Amino acid sequence: MSRSIWIVAEHQDDNLHTGAAELAGAARSVGDHVAAVVCCEAGSTVPAQAAPFVDQVLVIENAALSGYTAGLWAQGIVGLAKESAPAAILLPHAPLGRDLAPLLAARLDAGLLTDCLELQWEEGLVGLRSVHRRKLVSRERVATPIAIATCQRGAFAASPAGDAAAIETASVAIDDTAARTRLLSMERAEVGEGSITEAEIVVAGGRGLGDAEKFALVQELADAVGGVMGASRPVVDQGWVPHDRQIGSSGVTVRPRLYFALGISGAVQHVVGMRESDVIVAINKDPKAPIFEYAHYGIADDVFKVVPAVIANLNS
Ligand SMILES: Cc1cc2nc3c(=O)[nH]c(=O)nc-3n(C[C@H](O)[C@H](O)[C@H](O)COP(=O)(O)OP(=O)(O)OC[C@H]3O[C@@H](n4cnc5c(N)ncnc54)[C@H](O)[C@@H]3O)c2cc1C
Repeated sequence: MSRSIWIVAEHQDDNLHTGAAELAGAARSVGDHVAAVVCCEAGSTVPAQAAPFVDQVLVIENAALSGYTAGLWAQGIVGLAKESAPAAILLPHAPLGRDLAPLLAARLDAGLLTDCLELQWEEGLVGLRSVHRRKLVSRERVATPIAIATCQRGAFAASPAGDAAAIETASVAIDDTAARTRLLSMERAEVGEGSITEAEIVVAGGRGLGDAEKFALVQELADAVGGVMGASRPVVDQGWVPHDRQIGSSGVTVRPRLYFALGISGAVQHVVGMRESDVIVAINKDPKAPIFEYAHYGIADDVFKVVPAVIANLNS
């Protein structure tokens, strides 16, 4: 029997979130039929944007769904799920998923797994999850007929774009008057440091940089290449950079096109969070550092000699 896995398509200003392809990849890792559920108003182009990554697009159309509110989106998705009974519904482990997933689980009486790094299927959805402030990874199985899970960004390979799937408009009634909260307005916040899990280029620094002041070199290279700064755990533990920059088993997983490891030894707890990067460049003065086993390009030299030269070259 075919196992249907749904993904909830996140979108804003009529643009599908780039993480949707990755969520479709997570769904493909455990299902043989992947459907994107799109809650939107009539005329939206989001369903067509989702179509190349999935086997089916299920559209719940209503003017009240144009902006996200958990209550109304849940009303639509729950109504559809009760009719079609997918094996699982996946959401990003991002603000949308953290808000909506518990509501879906409660209303569908379904088991919920959050912050999944990997999914498997063993008579039910199994998730490998970061727990205890990301210090441990637990393995849990959902025992209810429908499973809800949120997936960590950067942890799953994106589903490649293929032929556009069929787009079907689902007939689910949305009772706008039942909404407990309403979206009044949306204002764009000032753009700060880019998200590390979505960056195409990550420049990460380790303890080898020496101290907080010298660590500024990592940000300098990130600025020069248009990337985002990341770090190993000792750097975070010593307070040189905030915890949201930490890459590895107790931080976040990244999968950029280009990853720089500066003064990072390559401990397994760090490597699990970056080894899927497309191209890895390591600079470490110890030619025997384990990071070189994972690097596509390695420079066995002092970061304070190599990096300023690279920056000067980029800026010239
Ligand atoms: C439960 C648990 C969870 C963990 N989670 C994480 C995690 O999420 N992320 C993480 O990163 N770690 C994690 N760790 C820690 C991990 O085991 C390593 O200790 C850590 O990754 C090492 O960080 P580092 O490479 O920056 O430092 P080090 O291992 O000290 O390496 C520094 C490197 O810099 C090089 N170096 C020094 N000076 C220079 C220079 N001038 N130029 C070039 N190279 C130089 C050295 O040769 C060395 O290889 C975890 C550990 C445990 C037990």
